[in-house]
Amino acid sequence: LNPVFSDRPQSIFPTMSRLANAHDAINLGQGFPDEDGPREIREIAARATIEGPNQYAPVEGIPELREAIAFDNQRFYGLDLNPETETLVVSGATEGLAAAFLGFLSPGDEAVLLAPFYECYAPQIEATGARINLVNLVPPHWQLDREALERAITPKTKLIVVNTPHNPLGKVMSTDELSLIADIAIKQDLIVVCDEVYEHLIFDGVSHQPLMTISGMRDRCVRIGSAGKTFSLTGFRIGYVSGPAHLITGVMKAHQHLAYTVPIPLQKAVAAGLRMGDDYYAAFKTDMQTKRNLMAEGLTEAGFDVLPCAGTYFITVDIRSVGRDDDAAFCREITEKAKVAAVPISAFYHPSQADAPHNFVRFCFCKKKEVLNEACDRLVNYI
Ligand code: PMP
Ligand code: GLN
Repeated sequence: LNPVFSDRPQSIFPTMSRLANAHDAINLGQGFPDEDGPREIREIAARATIEGPNQYAPVEGIPELREAIAFDNQRFYGLDLNPETETLVVSGATEGLAAAFLGFLSPGDEAVLLAPFYECYAPQIEATGARINLVNLVPPHWQLDREALERAITPKTKLIVVNTPHNPLGKVMSTDELSLIADIAIKQDLIVVCDEVYEHLIFDGVSHQPLMTISGMRDRCVRIGSAGKTFSLTGFRIGYVSGPAHLITGVMKAHQHLAYTVPIPLQKAVAAGLRMGDDYYAAFKTDMQTKRNLMAEGLTEAGFDVLPCAGTYFITVDIRSVGRDDDAAFCREITEKAKVAAVPISAFYHPSQADAPHNFVRFCFCKKKEVLNEACDRLVNYI
């Protein structure tokens, strides 16, 4: 077995979901909505499945969806992309990330991750034979330190991964931080893999700013989005990659030997989704912001120190405020005893990081309000 995978524990998400099911707990661990996204998208998928074709799609994605991806980039960010050369449809952001790392990295190369980071980055990168250089974001605001980032870059560094809005932290990178990354990426000639799956889940009137829109970054970023997040259809497994032709070709060449293609009916449905009116996006954001507020209040009432959450559907608490200091043990404890599951933030650090904090826990709030209220009541009563 390949130790990159076999030496790691099973992914924290299904692990916590299993524990939640075993204890009949409300599952605020693994991040997935408890209601499927727009019915019109699902109806298009159903009709297209019956009508067909249901054969292999083009490797890069169907033209209809690639045009919708270019439209979406123009509509929200003023980015002008050629759908035929600068977009790619992938099997979820997860496969898009894997294809980007495989397409860009060779053994001996180095990649920079900002810790904590979404779970699949490290094994995917290490499977290419590249090394990871880690930069810790500094709690409680999870700031990015310029010197720490500069220290992590060597002549072998090929790329950096930037995730904003950030899972698990709910942090949104400021323009200053994006400019800092852009400055360093340009000076060091780095590719930036931009994981922007939560691009439409930013709260408090702030808008998402892709790193790709910053001067000098258009030709060195690939931007990864997910229909799973944007349309609450995580099971569709549709992601999209946008970027300059030379980088998209690199990702596509790996994708064609990984997922190869993505189901046509689902691509047609997501193409229609990306053309939905502004009211859809506004309602989606408002609903999730209400849930963020509800959770922040409920967790505060339970006695937690709640960290700021500017985007995504995850909110983090510091468990020292309730007299605990072991996040994994605490997640097991509340799953079994309070019947509410969460995930430990330490799972989002590299296994080599002995200095990873163990005092933060992530709760997912993309659930019905009554479910969130019940979860908060249980925590208030238990803690
Ligand atoms: N990146 C981040 C930051 C995520 O949170 C997720 C999903 N939880 C993914 C990538 C993977 O998205 P998908 O389901 O489209 O593969
Ligand atoms: N992205 C989701 C989370 O962070 C789960 C994804 C998964 O189960 N792989 O919880």
